Amino acid sequence: MADKRDYYEVLGVSRDATEKELKKSFRSLARKYHPDKNSSSDAEKKFKEIQEAFAVLSDSEKRAQYDRFGHSGPSMGGGFSGFDIRYEDLFGSGLEDLFSNFFGGGGRQTRSRQARGKSILVRKKIPFQMAFDGGSEEVSIDTFLSCDVCSGTGAKSRDEIQICSTCRGQGHVTQTRQVGPFLQQTNVTCPDCKGRGKIILNPCNICNGDGRNKKKQTIRFNVPAGVDSGMRLRMRGKGHVPQQGGIAGDLEIELILEEHPWFERDGSELLMSLPVGFPDLLLGKKMEIPHPDGKPLVIKIPPNSLSGHTLNISGRGLPNGRGRRGDVIILLKLFIPKKPSKSVKSKIESLRNDLTVPDNDLQSTIIDEANDRRS
Ligand SMILES: [Zn+2]
Ligand SMILES: [Zn+2]
Repeated sequence: MADKRDYYEVLGVSRDATEKELKKSFRSLARKYHPDKNSSSDAEKKFKEIQEAFAVLSDSEKRAQYDRFGHSGPSMGGGFSGFDIRYEDLFGSGLEDLFSNFFGGGGRQTRSRQARGKSILVRKKIPFQMAFDGGSEEVSIDTFLSCDVCSGTGAKSRDEIQICSTCRGQGHVTQTRQVGPFLQQTNVTCPDCKGRGKIILNPCNICNGDGRNKKKQTIRFNVPAGVDSGMRLRMRGKGHVPQQGGIAGDLEIELILEEHPWFERDGSELLMSLPVGFPDLLLGKKMEIPHPDGKPLVIKIPPNSLSGHTLNISGRGLPNGRGRRGDVIILLKLFIPKKPSKSVKSKIESLRNDLTVPDNDLQSTIIDEANDRRS
């Protein structure tokens, strides 16, 4: 283990760092090197290194031992396999739960880690209107729930559960291996109880020893205003319960916002293009279209507008989450009738000289246009 880096160095903290400093540094490094976010080849190794350093330094007993003996301390030694930390857990209060689960609130942790059920991810389409108003929706999912008959133990009765003798209920056993001149100790999952620490002699006949039954559940949830596609809502403990008891996984709902018939969304702004006839561009026009916020959207096209120009209507876009609303941005687009009648054509023909670019001004108009575009 001579090539192991100093734990304080790994976390980038001083030797007298407080618990708070350790947590802060761990959290930020773990986010940086989490394999879900960091694809560089050494990220996973680094991530494990950070976890190991934190696991030792955040436990006051282990830390004291490490301070005295370094990596060769009595309970150090190899075999650190890393925790299953999800990226989301590195934000907000989730990490606190994790700390208490993994590190027993900073004290001795002699019991095996509780099994955790699988999480469920569902995708749910929601109407565009919800981006304005928020609201509530529901999903139906099939979930493994704890068996009522055996209370999730999987056994016919409490007496039918025996502590596993191989691992003495620890769920893991220590394997010792000779590596060169060293004896390396590794913790592995107990092969007899599969890490559960107990063995069921007589299984419950409702769940057949599984400790759980699949049931359809309807879960209601709130959608915040300003929601966008891809947003994920996480509900702790609404996922599957693991076999033979433990902590239920989470339910994650990924929201997919349905498209609006004409608006395109850019954050809290709404973009649309509006076909406008030539007379309306030239003379100006006021019009109204229905708007998802309930009040009609009044569009005032000023005289001498150009196709390709935009109008901004402020505060009528989507809520931006900071108590304000974005804008509606309207692109004006010249509308040309597809099949003008003969009489329309002849009327336009009579106006041609008034509406077109005069031949002898053509070059200067082209230059004006170019300058306009460059400015
Ligand atoms: Zn066992
Ligand atoms: Zn059962």
